[in-house]
Amino acid sequence: MSSKKMSVGDPIESRCTKCRKITNHIIVAMTDDSPARVECNTCKGQHNYRPPVARKTPATRRTVDPKVAQQKEWESLRPSLEGKRPTAYSMTTAFKQGSVMEHPVFGLGVVLGSLGPGKVEVLFEDGKKKMRCL
Ligand SMILES: [Zn+2]
Repeated sequence: MSSKKMSVGDPIESRCTKCRKITNHIIVAMTDDSPARVECNTCKGQHNYRPPVARKTPATRRTVDPKVAQQKEWESLRPSLEGKRPTAYSMTTAFKQGSVMEHPVFGLGVVLGSLGPGKVEVLFEDGKKKMRCL
């Protein structure tokens, strides 16, 4: 027998709902070869065994290109632009979140939100831009 069998009374790491983190536990009940109930060493609470969840993201996870993500966001916002009258961009115009802007260079854009006084973030077809406004 190479693998060590667990049994009642053995220490084990488990996720504790009271402590809201992975703590050391003692097995208090077993189901076949796996722990069923455990007691938390920290709060002394007994609960069903929850395996500690690995926080590391798998290496296979693909990174999302921000440009591609913005393009997708634009595609999803595009239908909501239909029928809206765009406001011509000007530094002396106030733009609210959700308003549609028409820029001489970038074309149609949706105001995503304010970045502070006199600055808004706008999503155009070719990506997000910071625009000055009133
Ligand atoms: Zn606990």
